[in-house]
Amino acid sequence: MQSALLPTYARLDVTFVEGDGAWLVDADGKRYLDLFAGIAVVGLGHKHPAPLAAAQAQLEKLWHVSNLYWTEPMQELAAKLSVRFGGAQAFFCNSGAEANEAAIKWARKATGKTEIVALDGSFHGRTLGALSVTGQPAKRAAFEPLVPGAKFGLEHVGPETAAILLEPVQGEGGVHPLAPEALAHARALADEHGALLILDEVQTGVGRSGAFFAWETYGVKPDAVTLAKGLANGLPIGALLVSDDAPTGFEPGDHASTFGGNPVACAAACAVLDTIDDALLAHVRSASAQLAKGLAQFGDVRGLGLLLAVELDRPVPVEEALQHGLVIGSAGPNTLRLTPPLTLTAAEATLAIDLLTEIL
Ligand SMILES: *Cc1c(COP(=O)(O)O)cnc(C)c1O
Repeated sequence: MQSALLPTYARLDVTFVEGDGAWLVDADGKRYLDLFAGIAVVGLGHKHPAPLAAAQAQLEKLWHVSNLYWTEPMQELAAKLSVRFGGAQAFFCNSGAEANEAAIKWARKATGKTEIVALDGSFHGRTLGALSVTGQPAKRAAFEPLVPGAKFGLEHVGPETAAILLEPVQGEGGVHPLAPEALAHARALADEHGALLILDEVQTGVGRSGAFFAWETYGVKPDAVTLAKGLANGLPIGALLVSDDAPTGFEPGDHASTFGGNPVACAAACAVLDTIDDALLAHVRSASAQLAKGLAQFGDVRGLGLLLAVELDRPVPVEEALQHGLVIGSAGPNTLRLTPPLTLTAAEATLAIDLLTEIL
């Protein structure tokens, strides 16, 4: 398609115009079952009434003031996130990469050290700082020199380490859950060397793992966590949460974001948090089990909650799936990635497996 957009994406030949729950509609009126949810973003499904009503009400009241003032939705969201975390303070921004940028700056300021240890295969975002700690050389190569101080592999943790930055499940890197021993080891290493443990839960957070934070499943509490994707069900928002037990690090003037904590995005996010209750989290775990069982016929299944992958013996047929009215994702050439809305019904999960059987 001829376009005035810079070609940073290899876009598929479909234009979506509407969404409702787990369903998308294209410009020709064709319906698709959405097992991708905009890469784990639209967690409650398209046009979910709770964030929709909250965002609409906020749009009628106040769109923006500077972060030099307080707003109610931002305060309310920070308080709700603090309760979920078990005591934390928030910095709000607009994306996952920005949340990780904030985390890196916070770790350097809080420790007075510069090195960040991440893992091979990780993904932390495309801005220069977040890219520097992304363990995928092919994504970094064209943009070097990047920010110094990034190391890949827990064997590099030492006295100069400011922070260890990990995804509980590597999402973009192929849906690889971290071994529980590895996360426990990272916690111990951080404590031993006076480093901070930061978990990038941009993809695993906000209920996708079957718990609000994936770290709850692992039983390893980080010093800070970053969130974005699912937090406002599709409106742009990112957050750095710093544990009340960790150093505050930042002082006024250290970091900022003009749009960060936008009232409309925060109002939607508050509604998302109110909707993600124990019943929905239990539903995520049962939908995960149902999908994983059905997917096992196609190859080895891995993942956590509704972040699932199947290793196929051929390239992921994303285009054929679209022809069959199914939206799927990939995470590597042969890795089928499914990140459906957390509200996917049992009937929709059954239909998804039936359609995949036709396609594969
Ligand atoms: C998507 C993602 C990011 C980057 O988020 P953006 O909003 O695209 O900047 C960072 N970390 C993880 C784990 C992600 O999945």
